[in-house]
Amino acid sequence: MRFFITTAIDYPNSRPHIGTAFEKIGADVQARFQRMEGNAVHFLMGNDENTIKVSQRATELGVEAKPYVDDMARQFQDVWKALEISNDDFIQTSEERHHIGCRKFIQKVYDAGDIYKKPYQALYCDGCEEFKTASQIVDGKCPNHPNKPLREVEEENYFFRLSAFGDRLLAHYEANPDFIQPESRRNEIVSLVKTGLQDVSISRKGFTWGIRIPFDEEQTIYVWFDALLNYITAIGYGTDDARFEQIWPADVHVIGKDITRFHCALWPAMLMSAGLPLPKQVFGHGFVYRKDESTGEVAKMSKSLGNAVEPMDLIQQFSAEAFRFYFMSQCPFGGDGEFSFERFADAYNAGLANNLGNTFSRTLSMAVRYFDGKLGSTDGVDCRAWCAGLDLKALADELRTLMTSFQYNVAIQRIWGEVLDAANKYIQTTEPFKLVKTDVEGTRAILLNLADAIRVVAILIKPFLPSTAKTFYDAFSYGEVRSWDEVSYGDVASAPRFEALTVTAPLVNGKPAPLFPKVETDASK
Ligand SMILES: [Zn+2]
Repeated sequence: MRFFITTAIDYPNSRPHIGTAFEKIGADVQARFQRMEGNAVHFLMGNDENTIKVSQRATELGVEAKPYVDDMARQFQDVWKALEISNDDFIQTSEERHHIGCRKFIQKVYDAGDIYKKPYQALYCDGCEEFKTASQIVDGKCPNHPNKPLREVEEENYFFRLSAFGDRLLAHYEANPDFIQPESRRNEIVSLVKTGLQDVSISRKGFTWGIRIPFDEEQTIYVWFDALLNYITAIGYGTDDARFEQIWPADVHVIGKDITRFHCALWPAMLMSAGLPLPKQVFGHGFVYRKDESTGEVAKMSKSLGNAVEPMDLIQQFSAEAFRFYFMSQCPFGGDGEFSFERFADAYNAGLANNLGNTFSRTLSMAVRYFDGKLGSTDGVDCRAWCAGLDLKALADELRTLMTSFQYNVAIQRIWGEVLDAANKYIQTTEPFKLVKTDVEGTRAILLNLADAIRVVAILIKPFLPSTAKTFYDAFSYGEVRSWDEVSYGDVASAPRFEALTVTAPLVNGKPAPLFPKVETDASK
């Protein structure tokens, strides 16, 4: 089955911070999981370049807009690569494929009678790039940008008849309960649409950076209308219709909770007008807030607040895997999370250095020390003794549900709390480091069990920690993790057999190098 997943496209007026990275990792985990389920995944990301802010930023820097956005796109993609994000495509909305598709789409909506022109007079915030209604203005100012005076703007703009789609949208939410997830976001949107939608301005006059409207070349398409279209122009709408029909509709748009209403009301209405199928789901993830260690204060991260954390700093200090582990285990994807360096280090030491990394290193060390890495055949050995109390098949199925519903932190709790825990308890109760003095064959059976535990763990952590999963598999000559189903056997008879299981590990002073070296924290000093 095809699985098309997208993230929001980002403004390239500043470099990505860890809040942006949170979204990309969450989408990447889903993409990787769906690939393990045998689906033909198409994972799209990109940058939102046709905005006034971007051309203003380029002007500030004294460069042309296009080379500026191209350079930023490279910088963004460097960060995504460093975080092991496995996107298949990256669209820049200044690309020709996007311009062609947007012009085709807006013409279609115009022909359907859902676009009209009217004089417009309102207060505009340059910071938000949107007109403000009376209810959004506090003391004559935009609450988000109190230092930027609102501008009174009057011009003839094109409007999209969003108000005409309320009933159809409500009917769609009703018929498709999973369309908006998680549930709390769904309730927000339903009540928003019930109170009545207003038509939205979708064009601007007098801008040269942006996409010109085919039926009025003096106007350019305004930011939201253009940005949302990246999801279809990237896969060929207007330039490769056969490909577009093969991939669309999206299975899920992964976006931040602040832009849920654009994706759940405006976007489906636009698609209805153009006669295109709607995406199957919109998932509005939460935010990561920055906790100040000295004051204990929690604040939203932003460039203007000066408290943004650069992903590259954390990747260099720890690793990409540590970064992914923190955000996926400590921040519920559908809710909000907190970030502080202290919490990051604590989660790393507890989950990766002491637990996952240590289990792996101990098993490796014993296999190398006692058997020179040659664990031999699994024939006649009960390799499932380590998880005797666990129904792995049932657990794999439950985890599958948690993964598809983006409950990653709960999935990680179960993997660590049940599977890794079973492996660690097994080491404690069987004590192979003592048994080896009296019973070599018994010790070999224990190590084959631990090898199996590591094999199962590698499968389950692969969407979260892809390179750690590979390290585990490589060390035990297992080949490659392919499918989630490889976990799902409950009895000894159906467990995979190995004729000659070998362990290879790069040794440092006779010991395997630690996978996640422990870091010093204030608490451990
Ligand atoms: Zn504003």
